[in-house]
Amino acid sequence: MTLRFVDACRLPNRFGEFTLHGFEDEATGIEHLALTHGDVTGEAPVLARIHSECLTGDGLFSERCDCGYQLEAAMRRIVDEGRGVILYLRQEGRGIGLLNKIRAYKLQDQGADTVEANELLGFPADMRDFSICKPMLDHLGVRAVRLMTNNPRKLDSLADLGLHIVERVPLQVGRNPHNTAYLDTKAAKLGHLMKPAKAYRPAPPDAQGADEVAVSCQVQ
Ligand SMILES: [Zn+2]
Repeated sequence: MTLRFVDACRLPNRFGEFTLHGFEDEATGIEHLALTHGDVTGEAPVLARIHSECLTGDGLFSERCDCGYQLEAAMRRIVDEGRGVILYLRQEGRGIGLLNKIRAYKLQDQGADTVEANELLGFPADMRDFSICKPMLDHLGVRAVRLMTNNPRKLDSLADLGLHIVERVPLQVGRNPHNTAYLDTKAAKLGHLMKPAKAYRPAPPDAQGADEVAVSCQVQ
């Protein structure tokens, strides 16, 4: 995969002042974004969110999931902390795409859960690919992250891709009557860590002597 950085611009939003960085994955033609706040270079681990696009949640205020709430909370925390990064990956609906996501939602309206719906449509439960993240973070000068996520499989795949994750920061926000079954399915079938939060321990350091540190887990 080849990552091409295109350009960056100011992006003030209602949470604070961000810089928006545009990238293209030349292998797929997919355009990805990064938002940074403050100076994210240097040795100190950076508060980070790796967020897969959810147009319905992020842009249309859907309460069927927790994505919009997580994106908003991540931006607030980054601004509170003074520095941080959000990778905004264009892989809608856990990678099945926007229109298939509508089909999956329809199946959920008829009683399927989020995993069953993807499988009824012939897709795996989760098709996301995080291989673009390391080159994006390298471009931004981010060396190590404190990652806001509830998803241990995301942590494992990112660690396998060479990301230096020093801490998992839980991001449990936005539970409501419309998404509570969905969140419970993510916990039961996809292993998401909902309360009580558990510690995450990354894979052992590689042979090149990566300086992984013991991981603590903040409780909200
Ligand atoms: Zn969503």
